[in-house]
Amino acid sequence: MTKKFSLLNNLLSVFYPRLCLSCGDVLQENEEHLCLNCQLHLPETDSHKVENHPLEQIFRGRVPVENTYAFLSFRKGNCVQEILHQLKYKGNKEVGAYLGEMYGKKLHAKGRLADADCILPIPLHPKKLRIRGYNQSEWIAKGLSKGLQIPYDTHILMRSTFTETQTRKSRFSRWENVKEVFAVTDGDAIAGKHVIVCDDVLTTGATTEAAVRKILEVPGTRVSVVTLATAQ
Ligand SMILES: [Zn+2]
Repeated sequence: MTKKFSLLNNLLSVFYPRLCLSCGDVLQENEEHLCLNCQLHLPETDSHKVENHPLEQIFRGRVPVENTYAFLSFRKGNCVQEILHQLKYKGNKEVGAYLGEMYGKKLHAKGRLADADCILPIPLHPKKLRIRGYNQSEWIAKGLSKGLQIPYDTHILMRSTFTETQTRKSRFSRWENVKEVFAVTDGDAIAGKHVIVCDDVLTTGATTEAAVRKILEVPGTRVSVVTLATAQ
Protein backbone atom coordinates (compact mmCIF):
# COMPACT_ATOMS: atom_id res chain seq x y z
CA MET A 1 0.00 0.00 0.00
CA THR A 2 1.39 3.43 -0.90
CA LYS A 3 1.85 6.01 1.82
CA LYS A 4 -0.78 8.30 0.33
CA PHE A 5 -3.30 5.51 0.02
CA SER A 6 -2.59 4.31 3.54
CA LEU A 7 -3.18 7.84 4.88
CA LEU A 8 -6.48 8.00 3.05
CA ASN A 9 -7.41 4.64 4.46
CA ASN A 10 -6.59 5.79 7.96
CA LEU A 11 -8.72 8.88 7.49
CA LEU A 12 -11.60 6.83 6.14
CA SER A 13 -11.40 4.43 9.04
CA VAL A 14 -11.94 7.32 11.46
CA PHE A 15 -15.34 7.94 9.89
CA TYR A 16 -16.15 4.42 8.77
CA PRO A 17 -14.26 2.05 11.05
CA ARG A 18 -14.16 -1.52 9.88
CA LEU A 19 -15.62 -3.72 12.59
CA CYS A 20 -15.09 -7.34 13.57
CA LEU A 21 -18.10 -9.37 12.40
CA SER A 22 -18.08 -11.36 15.58
CA CYS A 23 -17.37 -9.02 18.51
CA GLY A 24 -17.88 -5.63 16.87
CA ASP A 25 -14.44 -4.29 17.89
CA VAL A 26 -12.66 -1.93 15.51
CA LEU A 27 -10.38 -3.92 13.22
CA GLN A 28 -6.67 -3.19 13.08
CA GLU A 29 -5.11 -2.40 9.71
CA ASN A 30 -3.80 -5.95 9.31
CA GLU A 31 -7.10 -7.60 10.28
CA GLU A 32 -9.90 -8.48 7.86
CA HIS A 33 -13.51 -9.30 8.72
CA LEU A 34 -12.58 -10.78 12.12
CA CYS A 35 -10.26 -9.51 14.82
CA LEU A 36 -7.31 -11.71 15.70
CA ASN A 37 -8.86 -12.72 19.00
CA CYS A 38 -12.11 -13.90 17.37
CA GLN A 39 -10.13 -15.65 14.65
CA LEU A 40 -8.22 -17.59 17.28
CA HIS A 41 -11.47 -18.61 18.96
CA LEU A 42 -13.47 -19.65 15.90
CA PRO A 43 -15.51 -22.75 16.81
CA GLU A 44 -13.82 -25.20 14.44
CA THR A 45 -15.25 -28.69 13.95
CA ASP A 46 -11.76 -30.17 13.50
CA SER A 47 -13.29 -32.60 10.98
CA HIS A 48 -10.10 -32.38 8.92
CA LYS A 49 -7.90 -33.23 11.90
CA VAL A 50 -9.75 -36.15 13.47
CA GLU A 51 -9.97 -39.57 11.85
CA ASN A 52 -13.54 -40.95 11.71
CA HIS A 53 -15.03 -37.61 12.67
CA PRO A 54 -18.85 -37.92 13.18
CA LEU A 55 -19.35 -35.68 10.14
CA GLU A 56 -18.05 -38.53 7.96
CA GLN A 57 -21.23 -40.43 8.90
CA ILE A 58 -23.70 -37.90 7.56
CA PHE A 59 -23.95 -39.39 4.06
CA ARG A 60 -23.43 -43.00 5.12
CA GLY A 61 -26.13 -45.24 3.68
CA ARG A 62 -27.38 -42.42 1.48
CA VAL A 63 -24.74 -41.70 -1.12
CA PRO A 64 -21.04 -42.58 -1.39
CA VAL A 65 -18.97 -39.56 -0.38
CA GLU A 66 -15.17 -39.82 -0.11
CA ASN A 67 -14.69 -37.17 2.59
CA THR A 68 -16.89 -34.64 4.34
CA TYR A 69 -15.28 -31.60 5.93
CA ALA A 70 -16.86 -28.55 7.55
CA PHE A 71 -14.83 -25.66 8.91
CA LEU A 72 -17.05 -24.20 11.65
CA SER A 73 -19.75 -25.28 14.08
CA PHE A 74 -22.98 -23.37 13.62
CA ARG A 75 -24.93 -22.87 16.84
CA LYS A 76 -27.83 -20.54 17.54
CA GLY A 77 -26.36 -17.24 18.71
CA ASN A 78 -22.72 -18.07 18.09
CA CYS A 79 -20.39 -16.01 15.93
CA VAL A 80 -20.81 -18.42 13.01
CA GLN A 81 -24.49 -17.51 12.84
CA GLU A 82 -23.55 -13.85 12.49
CA ILE A 83 -20.86 -14.62 9.90
CA LEU A 84 -23.34 -16.63 7.82
CA HIS A 85 -25.93 -13.88 8.17
CA GLN A 86 -23.41 -11.34 6.88
CA LEU A 87 -22.40 -13.67 4.06
CA LYS A 88 -25.94 -14.46 2.93
CA TYR A 89 -28.03 -11.41 3.68
CA LYS A 90 -25.74 -8.44 4.20
CA GLY A 91 -23.81 -8.52 0.95
CA ASN A 92 -20.57 -9.49 2.68
CA LYS A 93 -19.48 -12.03 0.09
CA GLU A 94 -15.80 -11.34 0.74
CA VAL A 95 -15.99 -13.00 4.15
CA GLY A 96 -16.93 -16.22 2.32
CA ALA A 97 -13.79 -16.06 0.19
CA TYR A 98 -11.72 -15.07 3.21
CA LEU A 99 -12.82 -17.99 5.40
CA GLY A 100 -12.85 -20.33 2.41
CA GLU A 101 -9.19 -19.58 1.78
CA MET A 102 -8.36 -19.95 5.46
CA TYR A 103 -9.96 -23.40 5.50
CA GLY A 104 -8.43 -24.37 2.17
CA LYS A 105 -4.99 -23.69 3.61
CA LYS A 106 -5.78 -25.78 6.69
CA LEU A 107 -6.97 -28.71 4.55
CA HIS A 108 -3.93 -28.34 2.30
CA ALA A 109 -1.55 -28.30 5.26
CA LYS A 110 -3.05 -31.58 6.49
CA GLY A 111 -2.75 -33.12 3.03
CA ARG A 112 -6.54 -33.43 2.79
CA LEU A 113 -8.15 -33.63 -0.66
CA ALA A 114 -4.70 -33.60 -2.24
CA ASP A 115 -5.93 -35.73 -5.16
CA ALA A 116 -9.06 -33.66 -5.86
CA ASP A 117 -9.35 -32.14 -9.33
CA CYS A 118 -11.95 -29.39 -9.10
CA ILE A 119 -14.35 -27.57 -6.79
CA LEU A 120 -17.99 -27.11 -7.75
CA PRO A 121 -20.08 -24.74 -5.61
CA ILE A 122 -23.74 -25.61 -5.05
CA PRO A 123 -25.59 -23.28 -7.40
CA LEU A 124 -28.16 -20.92 -5.96
CA HIS A 125 -31.77 -20.95 -7.10
CA PRO A 126 -32.05 -18.37 -9.93
CA LYS A 127 -34.73 -16.47 -8.02
CA LYS A 128 -32.50 -16.17 -4.95
CA LEU A 129 -29.54 -15.28 -7.13
CA ARG A 130 -31.53 -12.38 -8.61
CA ILE A 131 -32.40 -11.07 -5.15
CA ARG A 132 -28.98 -11.58 -3.56
CA GLY A 133 -26.92 -10.71 -6.60
CA TYR A 134 -24.31 -13.36 -5.86
CA ASN A 135 -23.99 -16.99 -4.84
CA GLN A 136 -22.34 -17.20 -1.42
CA SER A 137 -21.14 -20.77 -2.08
CA GLU A 138 -19.32 -19.51 -5.14
CA TRP A 139 -17.39 -17.06 -2.98
CA ILE A 140 -16.50 -19.79 -0.51
CA ALA A 141 -15.36 -21.95 -3.45
CA LYS A 142 -13.25 -19.09 -4.74
CA GLY A 143 -11.36 -18.87 -1.43
CA LEU A 144 -11.19 -22.62 -1.01
CA SER A 145 -9.70 -22.88 -4.49
CA LYS A 146 -6.96 -20.43 -3.57
CA GLY A 147 -6.16 -22.18 -0.28
CA LEU A 148 -6.26 -25.71 -1.70
CA GLN A 149 -4.70 -24.73 -5.05
CA ILE A 150 -7.44 -26.61 -6.89
CA PRO A 151 -9.50 -24.87 -9.62
CA TYR A 152 -13.19 -24.14 -9.17
CA ASP A 153 -15.91 -24.01 -11.80
CA THR A 154 -19.33 -22.38 -11.67
CA HIS A 155 -20.82 -23.77 -14.89
CA ILE A 156 -20.50 -27.54 -14.61
CA LEU A 157 -23.04 -27.94 -11.80
CA MET A 158 -26.20 -25.95 -12.48
CA ARG A 159 -29.77 -25.72 -11.24
CA SER A 160 -32.34 -27.33 -13.51
CA THR A 161 -34.63 -24.58 -14.64
CA PHE A 162 -37.68 -26.72 -15.24
CA THR A 163 -38.45 -27.91 -11.70
CA GLU A 164 -41.75 -27.07 -10.08
CA THR A 165 -41.63 -25.07 -6.90
CA GLN A 166 -41.29 -27.29 -3.86
CA THR A 167 -44.17 -25.68 -2.00
CA ARG A 168 -46.66 -26.87 -4.57
CA LYS A 169 -45.65 -30.47 -4.08
CA SER A 170 -46.79 -32.93 -1.50
CA ARG A 171 -44.42 -34.01 1.22
CA PHE A 172 -43.83 -37.35 -0.47
CA SER A 173 -42.94 -35.96 -3.86
CA ARG A 174 -40.75 -33.22 -2.45
CA TRP A 175 -37.76 -35.55 -2.37
CA GLU A 176 -38.26 -36.47 -6.03
CA ASN A 177 -38.30 -32.79 -6.75
CA VAL A 178 -35.05 -32.14 -4.88
CA LYS A 179 -33.35 -34.93 -6.81
CA GLU A 180 -33.92 -33.19 -10.09
CA VAL A 181 -32.91 -29.76 -8.92
CA PHE A 182 -29.38 -30.12 -10.29
CA ALA A 183 -27.92 -30.78 -13.71
CA VAL A 184 -24.38 -31.45 -14.88
CA THR A 185 -23.79 -29.40 -18.01
CA ASP A 186 -20.40 -30.80 -18.99
CA GLY A 187 -19.92 -34.43 -17.92
CA ASP A 188 -16.70 -34.81 -19.94
CA ALA A 189 -15.05 -32.14 -17.81
CA ILE A 190 -15.43 -34.19 -14.63
CA ALA A 191 -15.45 -37.80 -15.92
CA GLY A 192 -13.01 -39.93 -13.92
CA LYS A 193 -12.26 -37.05 -11.56
CA HIS A 194 -12.42 -36.37 -7.84
CA VAL A 195 -14.86 -33.49 -7.41
CA ILE A 196 -15.31 -31.33 -4.32
CA VAL A 197 -18.85 -30.06 -3.79
CA CYS A 198 -18.78 -26.83 -1.81
CA ASP A 199 -21.63 -25.24 0.13
CA ASP A 200 -22.16 -22.73 2.93
CA VAL A 201 -23.91 -24.79 5.62
CA LEU A 202 -24.40 -28.52 6.00
CA THR A 203 -27.59 -29.31 7.90
CA THR A 204 -29.50 -32.45 6.91
CA GLY A 205 -27.42 -32.75 3.77
CA ALA A 206 -30.46 -33.32 1.51
CA THR A 207 -29.52 -30.64 -1.02
CA THR A 208 -25.88 -31.65 -1.05
CA GLU A 209 -26.90 -35.30 -1.45
CA ALA A 210 -28.95 -34.40 -4.52
CA ALA A 211 -25.98 -32.61 -6.08
CA VAL A 212 -23.62 -35.49 -5.24
CA ARG A 213 -26.00 -37.99 -6.85
CA LYS A 214 -26.15 -35.97 -10.02
CA ILE A 215 -22.34 -35.72 -10.23
CA LEU A 216 -21.92 -39.44 -9.54
CA GLU A 217 -24.01 -40.18 -12.64
CA VAL A 218 -20.93 -39.14 -14.62
CA PRO A 219 -18.74 -42.24 -15.09
CA GLY A 220 -15.70 -42.59 -12.85
CA THR A 221 -16.38 -39.57 -10.63
CA ARG A 222 -15.71 -39.50 -6.91
CA VAL A 223 -17.11 -36.77 -4.69
CA SER A 224 -16.08 -35.07 -1.46
CA VAL A 225 -18.03 -32.39 0.37
CA VAL A 226 -16.61 -29.25 1.96
CA THR A 227 -18.75 -26.64 3.70
CA LEU A 228 -17.99 -23.48 5.61
CA ALA A 229 -20.18 -24.50 8.52
CA THR A 230 -22.28 -27.32 9.86
CA ALA A 231 -25.21 -27.45 12.23
CA GLN A 232 -24.47 -31.14 12.91
ZN1 LIG B 1 -13.63 -9.89 17.21
